[in-house]
Amino acid sequence: MNVAAGTAGVVGMAGLSLGGGYGPLLGTAGLAADNLLGAEVVLADGRLISTEDDPELLWALRGGGGNFGVATSLRVRLHPDRGLVGGMALFPWQEASTVLSRFAGLIADAPDGLTLLLEMTVAPDIGPCLVVVPVWSGEPWHADAAIGAVKRLGTPINSTVAPTTQKDLWGQFDQSVPNGMHWELRTRNIAELTPDIIDLLTGWAETRPGPGAGIGLRQFHGAATRVGADDSAFGLRTNHVAVEISAGHGPDEEPAVYRDWVDNVSNALAPFALPGGYPNFLLPDQAEQVAHAYGAHPERLVRAKESYDPEHVFTATPLPDRDMLKNYTPQSELRR
Ligand SMILES: Cc1cc2nc3c(=O)[nH]c(=O)nc-3n(C[C@H](O)[C@H](O)[C@H](O)COP(=O)(O)OP(=O)(O)OC[C@H]3O[C@@H](n4cnc5c(N)ncnc54)[C@H](O)[C@@H]3O)c2cc1C
Repeated sequence: MNVAAGTAGVVGMAGLSLGGGYGPLLGTAGLAADNLLGAEVVLADGRLISTEDDPELLWALRGGGGNFGVATSLRVRLHPDRGLVGGMALFPWQEASTVLSRFAGLIADAPDGLTLLLEMTVAPDIGPCLVVVPVWSGEPWHADAAIGAVKRLGTPINSTVAPTTQKDLWGQFDQSVPNGMHWELRTRNIAELTPDIIDLLTGWAETRPGPGAGIGLRQFHGAATRVGADDSAFGLRTNHVAVEISAGHGPDEEPAVYRDWVDNVSNALAPFALPGGYPNFLLPDQAEQVAHAYGAHPERLVRAKESYDPEHVFTATPLPDRDMLKNYTPQSELRR
């Protein structure tokens, strides 16, 4: 059986699932949060609540983060393993524009079974490059066609894409996220990867402050888009790309230069982006993004916070508050 978890094995299921949870099975199984069937939660006043008795708590936990209490157990839907095909394909940075424009076409037409991640990163012994991380989780007989399209994005320097297991897919990131690293993270959602955005992102990637800094493009499509807007606190249910701007650095390094870079990339992307952003990568001081990060439901989420944690004992993904709601514009109006 497989589970809708994150891309790297180091990411814990609790924070991931409660805040959303993009992962390689997203196209066929949805977000990690969509596969959260139930939870037991200890509230700040010591009460143990089961979501079986309180469906509103389950609604809030699916995307509203660990903001209501401590989840002491999570019940998660598993998916039959029909065979996964995945790995990494590395492309030279010199081909960045071509690879990215073909990648834009590929994610626009990708079947549910193919979920893609692309990282503009630095690889040991190679230097700046693009790493495409495809995972095929659909009908096995369509895997070759889908994966073939990935290899034709450019001229691969090398590729590990092959039939695999979920455990091996998680393990392939172990070396790039060693324990003890500190991370500066920003995020923006874009509706599609346009030529202007490709130019902007490749330009900024070339100014990275260190090898741990990069820009990731995470595809949201398929099963995750078919979950009803009212079924969870997670915000954006239409096809999009979550842009992850990250800068990992050692604990003794001065964080300011990394923080400036992620802020600058995020600010440059803002005019092209959808309102909001992925809550697991947002900070409390990003009020404009936070207000729009939970889609059509900020009021309902604020009520859940007031009901389960009125003293604000728990702080996890940043939630909107009543002041932010005064300036909240529904996403449908913002897009007009
Ligand atoms: C290297 C890296 C890779 C990532 N990859 C992905 C990815 O593939 N997909 C994706 O969607 N996101 C990804 N993220 C973001 C990730 O979803 C968040 O960082 C998430 O918070 C991680 O959860 P955790 O339980 O590991 O973290 P923790 O730091 O343990 O927890 C994060 C927050 O979650 C809350 N929390 C944790 N456990 C509980 C609990 N039992 N009850 C209540 N609240 C709890 C806490 O409030 C805590 O502040 C990645 C982050 C990093 C740094």
